[in-house]
Amino acid sequence: MSGELSAARLARLGAVRAAMAEHGVDALLLSLGADLPWLSGYQAMPLERPTVLVVPSDAPATLVVPRLEAPRVEPDGTLFALRPWDELEDPVALVAGLVGARRSLAVSDRCWAQLLLALQSELPKASWRLASSVIGPLREIKDVHEIAALAAAASAADAVAAALFAGEIPLIGRSEAEVSAEIGRRLIDAGHERVNFAIVASGPNAASPHHEPGARRIRAGEAVVCDFGGTMRTEQTGTAGYCSDTTRTVVTGPPSAELQECYEVLQDAQATAVAAVRPGVTCEAIDVAAREPITAAGFGEYFVHRTGHGIGIDEHEAPWIIGGNATTIRPGHAFSVEPGIYLPGRFGARIEDIVVATEEGVRPLNTSEHGLVVVEA
Ligand code: ZN
Ligand code: ZN
Ligand code: ZN
Repeated sequence: MSGELSAARLARLGAVRAAMAEHGVDALLLSLGADLPWLSGYQAMPLERPTVLVVPSDAPATLVVPRLEAPRVEPDGTLFALRPWDELEDPVALVAGLVGARRSLAVSDRCWAQLLLALQSELPKASWRLASSVIGPLREIKDVHEIAALAAAASAADAVAAALFAGEIPLIGRSEAEVSAEIGRRLIDAGHERVNFAIVASGPNAASPHHEPGARRIRAGEAVVCDFGGTMRTEQTGTAGYCSDTTRTVVTGPPSAELQECYEVLQDAQATAVAAVRPGVTCEAIDVAAREPITAAGFGEYFVHRTGHGIGIDEHEAPWIIGGNATTIRPGHAFSVEPGIYLPGRFGARIEDIVVATEEGVRPLNTSEHGLVVVEA
């Protein structure tokens, strides 16, 4: 691990301790979810044997990990001590011992109920809150390492989009599931370690934003929404991978006048919303910027979801780009801008980029073609 990355993690631990003090949290217990890899670089296995990073407010941190998974941990003595537990040990008692008499505890949002309920009966006097209430605001703002990792993942996804536009991923006559599998393979070839999803929604299926790609064969002359992303590790982030997520809509032949019109409205809305991103603007205002042109064109009721979501180690995380969210954008906020128009039973379209707010304004990380590309392959 690079010294720089190690220093970045130490800085995160310092910020976490300050947030714990501010919120009056005596100990933080991180198990499953993105908080642990964000802070320590270690991703716990989502299995029945518990892994918990115990961070007391007034003592060094300890990673309690199953003995057989301990070799996966990159040792970093400056961040935490390692306490492997043996098969016949009780990890809940071990964690409770490290917590001791501390009362105000924060636990990973995605800690399994099995572990939390066992901890609660072992620590009956403790009060509990979600770790996101302490760590969430810190994780929202990406540092230079994280932005570099998101940019690398976005470029890799853009390479797959470019192949799609070039007709290198045949569409006509193939099933959505086949195309989805090919997009997934190409994400891996482009450097991702894992495919998180590859939505391929053709014809009337494109009107379903989270369509599950299936047996439907793609025909000539229809819109195909391709929304894909995965997790990529880089030297910048060690073992914690960062996500890509991009959507492009192509048409397998000359588009109908109606699809063309709809797409132009959508492209304008997406570009307007991206241009609205800058420090000081609210999440809600970005959502409004995307929604206004779509509503003005009469398609408002067909834009059925929020404009975007934050992205990092988790594919979907705060900040949420949605009406009612008064969170102010700050430099380092990274999120999707992904308006869509979905006409039930007929067709749909979506355009999605990941963007990062900078001191100067906005840096779009996805830069593949935004126009409606005809792919006659
Ligand atoms: Zn989605
Ligand atoms: Zn997406
Ligand atoms: Zn998305």
